[in-house]
Amino acid sequence: MENSKKFRSWLDEMKLSHPLVIAGPCSAETESQVLQIAHDLKDTDVNYYRAGIWKPRTRPGNFEGVGAIGLKWLQRVKEETGLKTATEVANRAHVELALEYDVDLLWIGARSTVSPFIVQEIADALEGTDKIILVKNPVNPDLSLWIGAVERLHNANIEKLGVIHRGFSSYKKTKYRNLPEWQIAIDLQSKYPDLPIINDPSHISGRRDLIFDVSQTALDLNFDGLMIETHCDPDKAWSDAEQQVTPARLQEIFKDLKVRKRGSDQADFHNSLDQLRAQIDVLDASILDTLGERMTVAKSIGQLKKDLNVAVLQSNRWNEILGRMILEGEQRNLSEEFILKLFKSIHQESIRHQEKIMNP
Ligand code: PEP
Ligand code: MN
Repeated sequence: MENSKKFRSWLDEMKLSHPLVIAGPCSAETESQVLQIAHDLKDTDVNYYRAGIWKPRTRPGNFEGVGAIGLKWLQRVKEETGLKTATEVANRAHVELALEYDVDLLWIGARSTVSPFIVQEIADALEGTDKIILVKNPVNPDLSLWIGAVERLHNANIEKLGVIHRGFSSYKKTKYRNLPEWQIAIDLQSKYPDLPIINDPSHISGRRDLIFDVSQTALDLNFDGLMIETHCDPDKAWSDAEQQVTPARLQEIFKDLKVRKRGSDQADFHNSLDQLRAQIDVLDASILDTLGERMTVAKSIGQLKKDLNVAVLQSNRWNEILGRMILEGEQRNLSEEFILKLFKSIHQESIRHQEKIMNP
């Protein structure tokens, strides 16, 4: 799939007046839960009603989905509310059942995208379908794996393709459940500008109070839509309870989000400027995260020095860091003067943290 590859612009064909919205519970739990949420979402901006029928759980023993019976409930959703439906498929049997029950949009989950065998099995089962197929990013931050999955589906003559950015696992504890690593999504967008990209702030955040900000960043970065987990009683949800919002909260979120113009207006100066500024904001936040982490490590060094009664300032080590950073900076087109100023200031802050540990 060479860079110039054109994808069918199924999203433009829908002529929506706002970004695509996929909403609904993490999991279908009971028929009445599925129908109640769907009725609450019926007269809103929601385009596709999502509900997980088969749930990939990291650890066994958690709720693993209601299975095929849930597809009947999704059918009722379509009949009663007119909402189109969406669910996750993870093998050939899921695909066959989802197609039999006429689910309109199928997505491949993050834990499946990591496996070329699974993706190929799904692609073979979907060969030539006219359903919309979205590929979530793999759990690990690997752009090729994500692209590879899209290629397998494309090779299976599936025209209506898109991707979902749901963040990446990390061993590090951060405020996110899955790190957004926006740059990976931006790289995919620049490589395939015609491939619709949807953001999933629920799985990135893992907690409902971050959903708005993540959604706004996604819209600032020109994402084509949002997938937001929505439940009538979020705290009692059988899976992902902390990250689901009520239908009422979902509407508030959409009222407050600043939606950027799509389509031909993308060339517009302000739009491009906003997009670039959003990229800068993402990069600045990651610089601060890294600096914060660096200071935490510096404090541990301070503790170690305190325990052994060693001086805070170790000039050999400091000169070695500076020399290395000047060389590395050069390779990145950063001037020696800038590197000196930057690292002197970082070093001072480190020493301040270490001194606080030594002389509390
Ligand atoms: C989901 O959408 O409920 C889900 C399991 O997502 P992911 O594959 O992103 O973890
Ligand atoms: Mn979920």
